[in-house]
Parts: sequence; C-alpha cells; structure tokens
Amino acid sequence: MAVRFHNHQRLYQRRKPEIDAAIARVIASGRFDWGDEVPAFEAEFAAWNGASHAVGVNSGSAALKVALLALGIGPGDEVITVGNTDIASSSAIHNTGARPVWVDTDAESKTMALDGLVAAITPKTRAILPVDLYGHPADMVAIVAIARQHNLVVVEDACLALGARINGQKIGSFADITCFSFAPSKHLGSFGSGGAALTESAELAETMRKLSAYGQDRSRHYAMHGPGGMGGLHHETHGLNERLDEMQAAILRAKLPDLAAMLADRRAQADRYDNGLSGLGIDLPGTMPGYQHAWRNYVIEAEDRDGLAARLAERGIATNLTYAPPMHLQPVFADYNLGPGTLPATEHSARRLLGLPIGPQLTLDEIDEVIAAVRTVA
Ligand SMILES: *Cc1c(COP(=O)(O)O)cnc(C)c1O
Repeated sequence: MAVRFHNHQRLYQRRKPEIDAAIARVIASGRFDWGDEVPAFEAEFAAWNGASHAVGVNSGSAALKVALLALGIGPGDEVITVGNTDIASSSAIHNTGARPVWVDTDAESKTMALDGLVAAITPKTRAILPVDLYGHPADMVAIVAIARQHNLVVVEDACLALGARINGQKIGSFADITCFSFAPSKHLGSFGSGGAALTESAELAETMRKLSAYGQDRSRHYAMHGPGGMGGLHHETHGLNERLDEMQAAILRAKLPDLAAMLADRRAQADRYDNGLSGLGIDLPGTMPGYQHAWRNYVIEAEDRDGLAARLAERGIATNLTYAPPMHLQPVFADYNLGPGTLPATEHSARRLLGLPIGPQLTLDEIDEVIAAVRTVA
C-alpha cells in the first residue's frame, strides 16, 4: 500500500460537521468581508497560544512581511536568518527591501547557530529572523538576549512549529512577533491560505492590522461596511491587502479545538519512528533538552539519501527534501555570490536529509509501513 504525505480530504473528515456548519454560517450571514469571524478567530488563536494579540493575515509569508514592515524594516537594513528553510523566510525579508543574511545552523537542533548569529551582526543589522525548523523551536531565549544586547528586533518564523514549547511555555511570546502559516499542510490547515502573527504589543498588533488592510484602521472598514455605512476614508500609511478572510477564519475556528489532538498524533508518530528506525545507521531527528517539538516534519539523515529515496519510492513510500538546496544556493539569490562552502553545517545536512510522511492525515499503520520499508531498504 502506498503512503503519501498529504491527504486534506481525510483531515476534513476529522471535523466535517463543525467545518460544514462554519462554512454555512458565513454564507448565511452574507458577511464575506469585515465580519465577526476574523476578530473571533484572532482572540481564540491568541488564547490558545497564551499570547496577548493575534493578527490574522492571508499567509505565513504575509505574516512575516507585515511583521517586518511593522517593525520598520526596509531598504538598507540587514536581517539575519537561516538558509535551511522555506523560501518564504528569505523572500519576506527581500520583499521589504531589506537584505537577508544567512548564518549556519547548529548541528543538533538544525536551528540558527548562536556563534554564527553573533558573528554576522553589522551596523546595518536591524532584525533577527530565526526559523523553528521542522517544529523544533530555535534557541529563542538566547537569541532574544543577543538581540536586546545589540538593540535588534526578533521576528520568529514559527510556520512549522505551532504548539511547540520551550521550558513548558508555548512559543508565541518569546520574539517581538511570532509568525504562523495556515497553509493546508501545516499544523492548523485552512482550506486555501492563511496566517497569523502573535505579539505582546497592542501597538504592534494595531500597526500590523493597519498594514494588512490597505493602511487604514480596521474600525473604519467596519464602520463603512456596517449597517449604517458610516465614515469616510482615512489612510495614514501605505498598506497592503493581506487580510485573513472570513471563510478561512470560520474554518480555522472549527478546527482549532482539534489542534491539541492533532499535535498528539504527530508526537505519537514521531515516537513510533524513533523506536522503529533505531539501529539502522540513519541519523534520527533529536530534540534538545527543555524543548517540546511540534513535529511538522520528521526528517532523517543518511549518507546514501538519494538511493534510499529511490528505493522507498519503488515501494510507494513518498519522501521529500524539506528543505534543500539551501537558500543561499538558490538561483533567485545568485547575485549574492555565495557559493558552496558558505554554510558548511547547513549544506552537509542538505545533502543528507530526507523527510518521511508524518501528520494527523496518516494512521499509525501507515507509519509502520514506512518503518518496515525503511528497515528493508536502508
Ligand atoms: C510554510 C512556511 C512559510 C510560508 O507560509 P505560507 O502560508 O505558505 O505563505 C514560511 N516559513 C516557513 C518555515 C514555512 O514552512
């Protein structure tokens, strides 16, 4: 039997009555814009994460961009990030006019290496954008301490790490702004695209709401679209249209009560892999002491990665290369002139990594099939 990565239809079945009701509610209300679902989701999502404010936006990419803009990042600025991630982390920086500066990763956690971070700080550095790779939080406590020493801001790319914890505390209030994606394959998947930014600052939350809604205060949009249709235009700043929409917000509200159970499924699957794949000479993902992993990805490393992937494919087992090659070697950043050898740990990992199927769309029997196949061909 084949095991694939994604199965959005199965995820829908987990919450079909709740999701159907949510969609029907939005349609019946006729409020496809500036309704109650987005503010309600923002409050529920912030509470779930133990954060003060959530701003709903239309993707993880939008969350990162709006966060950087709200913190005043723009042309001439440098933002330190990592290369072993989704392109969105780096393109969000580029799209503000700032320059991404990639540093190497810790060999164990695969997240931003602290010595690399400190060495990369220049007078132009304004922000640090660590990535919680695969669901393992970056060393946020140390990174924020370094940022404060150098008067820098921190935007955490937590698009892979919803529900992860550091010393028991959910991520979401370590950085100045923490960004999440609701792409269908992420921990809390929308039926299209969505994202959110969390912050402890009411002022930053308002700025992000304004920036993502044409540069106008949200209350004015509500006034214009409300029953009385009152109020004129009042644009104080340039803005974007990067809003979370009512339909996605309603669907996300229907799914949020299932998030803890979906995370538990991921943990159980990772445990199964840990036990089932030991002793094969394959490197299994580690979790640093004090961290709780959110297991968006289960990524092994093997010398003969390409051979292993091919043999698994023959048996119908899907694998993926999350995330390789690294950003500094992608054609889009060729003008940075950063060749192989720039980030040794990142590149070493990129040559060896292989993602195995994981997530609440899969059963433990399917995980066992993957384990059996890896044990046969490794
Ligand atoms: C998915 C992802 C993003 C982008 O999220 P979208 O909703 O697809 O825009 C950003 N960073 C990381 C690390 C991601 O995995």
